[in-house]
Amino acid sequence: MEFSKASEILYKGRVVKGMDFNKPEAFPLFANTSFTMKSLDEVKEAYKSKYTYVRTGNPNRDSLAEIVSSLECGEDTLIFSSGMGAITTTMLALVKPGDHIICNRNIYGETFDVMVKLLSTFGVETILVDFDDIENVRKAIQPNTKMIYSEVLANPTINVADIPTLAKIAHDHDALLMIDNTFTSPIAIQPISFGADIVINSMTKFMNGHSDAITGSITASSEIIETIRPIRMLCGTPGDPHASWMMIRGIQTIDLRLKKQMANAAKLAKALEDNQYVSKVNHPSLESFPQHELATKLFKSKDTMSGIMSFIIPEDEKKINAFMQKLHFAHYATTLGGLRTTLNHPVTSSHSHMPDEDRRKMGITPGMFRLSVGIEDVDDLITDFMQALQVFGN
Ligand SMILES: *Cc1c(COP(=O)(O)O)cnc(C)c1O
Repeated sequence: MEFSKASEILYKGRVVKGMDFNKPEAFPLFANTSFTMKSLDEVKEAYKSKYTYVRTGNPNRDSLAEIVSSLECGEDTLIFSSGMGAITTTMLALVKPGDHIICNRNIYGETFDVMVKLLSTFGVETILVDFDDIENVRKAIQPNTKMIYSEVLANPTINVADIPTLAKIAHDHDALLMIDNTFTSPIAIQPISFGADIVINSMTKFMNGHSDAITGSITASSEIIETIRPIRMLCGTPGDPHASWMMIRGIQTIDLRLKKQMANAAKLAKALEDNQYVSKVNHPSLESFPQHELATKLFKSKDTMSGIMSFIIPEDEKKINAFMQKLHFAHYATTLGGLRTTLNHPVTSSHSHMPDEDRRKMGITPGMFRLSVGIEDVDDLITDFMQALQVFGN
């Protein structure tokens, strides 16, 4: 439904702030840094509502913003140079010295650094807590708590955030709930409909889906967006027009891609769970998943939960190398959300800085892989994983 609305925005030959397009079949790229004006009257008019300079406004960025608002069921959206540009700019706009943030301890590495290292230099205190037990969040609330921050699904253990309860706690204390929807996308879940105030997407991942451009988005109420907009202009973090154009190209197939990826992930998760060499699979669709019940409340079906999962195989580095080399479809890559299935090894990448003991407490072992499932034929994928896992039987 939301996706139909979003694609309509692209195809209705809309008027962008006074510019009338003659219904081009694909949305044109505005690769210009500024717009020209013929008189002082036009200059005045342009400064009020039209386009002037690229950092301030650009039609590709605005169209993309409108599409994302529609997908996320939010009032308004800002497009940024990257997911990190979106997060950092939003924080600088919304928190001030003396404020307190409660952040899920299981969080994307760079987001962790913004919350813990960067914001502390501006006098903002962030406390990291385990969101699996919601009492931890309640206990962490202080009179100066300004924001609660979490991802829908944590990397790489896939823990699910109880968004409705987090929203209630935040709103009972006049705080904002900010949710990162990157691992799930608005095709799986719209955090705003569960009470979140701010949703961030690294569009670099599933939203674009083609692993060839970087962009981030923030969706929120118009009031919050208008607080962030001038700071984005000062930080110089708006999305580049070409990247926005690439995102629009990618997002046109988001509904097709994501539904296939999420259904593939659910089937592959089950097949991996049934394999004798796999000791654990983390995917919310599985009945064995500790938060399966919460997941069924938040997501529409087990086939629309996420294209991301993780699984654990024996800690035998030689055999793990052989396993990776035997895979025909899945290949190692330091990203996720693309068309092709990609693997990632948290212990040697995202969590390499962490002591082994701490990692194990979180369920992250040297036998763990994170998987971003692509649009391949699911039977091909399952057959491929099953033959590659045979190396552990030798
Ligand atoms: C990649 C990612 C980000 C950062 O996005 P960039 O576009 O790489 O800056 C933030 N959160 C999550 C969960 C991510 O996976």
